[in-house]
Amino acid sequence: MLNKDFHTVLKKEVFQTLARCVDSLSLESYLVGGVVRDHLLDKEKAKDIDIITVGSGIELAKTVQKELPGAQAVQVFKSYGTAMVQWRDLSLEFVSARKESYSRDSRNPQVTMGSLEDDQNRRDFTINALAVSLNAKDKGTLLDPFNGLEDLQNGIIRTPLEPGVTYSDDPLRMFRAIRFAAQLNFKIEDKSLKAIRGNAHRIAIMSKERIVEELHKIMLTPEPSHGFLMLEQNGLLERILPELIQLKGIEEIEGQRHKDNFYHTLEVVDNICKDTQDLWLRWAALLHDIGKAPTKKFNSKIGWTFHGHEFVGSKMVYKLFKRLKMPLNEKMKYVQKLVIMSSRPIIIAEEIVTDAAVRRLVFDAGEILEDLITLCEADITTKNPARFKRYHNNFKLVREKIKEVEERDRVRNFQPPVTGEMIMNHFNLRPCKEIGLIKEAIKEAILEGEIPNEYEAAFALMIKKGIDIGLEAHGK
Ligand code: ATP
Ligand code: MG
Repeated sequence: MLNKDFHTVLKKEVFQTLARCVDSLSLESYLVGGVVRDHLLDKEKAKDIDIITVGSGIELAKTVQKELPGAQAVQVFKSYGTAMVQWRDLSLEFVSARKESYSRDSRNPQVTMGSLEDDQNRRDFTINALAVSLNAKDKGTLLDPFNGLEDLQNGIIRTPLEPGVTYSDDPLRMFRAIRFAAQLNFKIEDKSLKAIRGNAHRIAIMSKERIVEELHKIMLTPEPSHGFLMLEQNGLLERILPELIQLKGIEEIEGQRHKDNFYHTLEVVDNICKDTQDLWLRWAALLHDIGKAPTKKFNSKIGWTFHGHEFVGSKMVYKLFKRLKMPLNEKMKYVQKLVIMSSRPIIIAEEIVTDAAVRRLVFDAGEILEDLITLCEADITTKNPARFKRYHNNFKLVREKIKEVEERDRVRNFQPPVTGEMIMNHFNLRPCKEIGLIKEAIKEAILEGEIPNEYEAAFALMIKKGIDIGLEAHGK
């Protein structure tokens, strides 16, 4: 792939420049962390390149910046003794090798200058503690004090030090362990899993933003169910997304069972990830059924019901976003709208599709229509092959019908052909509620197919409706 090759060439140039500058300044420096790990895994995705220097890395950053044509000015963070150089799409982060000690109530450690070994000791996982020398005497040598290479080959997430201490010191590492396991399809070693379960309560000292950042990364893996199941099995999910845990379990009354909506949800998320890379559409899939727990009821005649779960769920989305300090902006509204409309296309797909029902769906969904249908298709998790096929076929029909109706009636984002201003002019009105009534009547008539989406017909209806509600008294 052109892109990957280009990226590799750029990195090669960076590595050569780094080694040259390290040599000229006689500084002890190493590549470390993600860039080494991903290179060994033959994944050239890392865009941030971490360089540690024993002593200050700021001078090295300044020298490297001059050597890379077009690199942006060095950004120095004095208090941390770190510096950053942005070159093309790569960020080079220069940090001093450091030693850390933690206190109970914060994930921010006391930091002092240290050796390469100190620095490797403080790293979260053996696969992230791998360093490559940039120094003339042993350039290119892999420094691997914790057998990270072996773990990389065997697909194991393991901490360099005692896992209980590692996770308690910085609980973010619990999420990182699960996130790396999910991204790389690795296994977390048992001792670590045990320590995570024992320290799950420590996430209380983490900022919500950092938690969400990790959740997003898990959500962007090809099959997020793996990550979410690890979060669930190790006591983290209940602390961050209890709404999902509430969906767990199957109840049976009078021989009638409902499905386990937790596992169903995870299946829906995995399904939708085959069709979209969009983070928020994936979130909508994760949250589309959360209203089912509080609305669940049993009725002897009709069995289990979840009446109004879409509406309740969309309210819960707001609370959940707020609690996790996620953006309360158009992204949240988008997720809410998908949740609230999540059953609409299903009803259409189950019945004989009338043009009016499709027009209404198109009008109400507007911009989210395609994503909504994608969500509904992902929602098909039946294990009955005949039903699976039938439901998918129905959605194919819904898509075709939508296309047909859209081409003919142009109801998406539609602006009624008669405006409020036209109504005011015709009946000589000031702004008043009658205008809204007429507009609504025109919209309804178009959606129901009683009149075409055209000016003439809408204008005629406006006059009729105006007379009906006694408007001539005001008008010309
Ligand atoms: P990616 O960038 O793909 O998320 P990464 O390994 O580069 O992966 P970063 O967050 O960029 O992750 O961190 C760079 C390196 O810093 C890691 O490889 C690891 O060695 C170290 N590191 C980051 N966060 C922690 C932490 N919370 N505790 C210990 N070491 C950490
Ligand atoms: Mg990184």
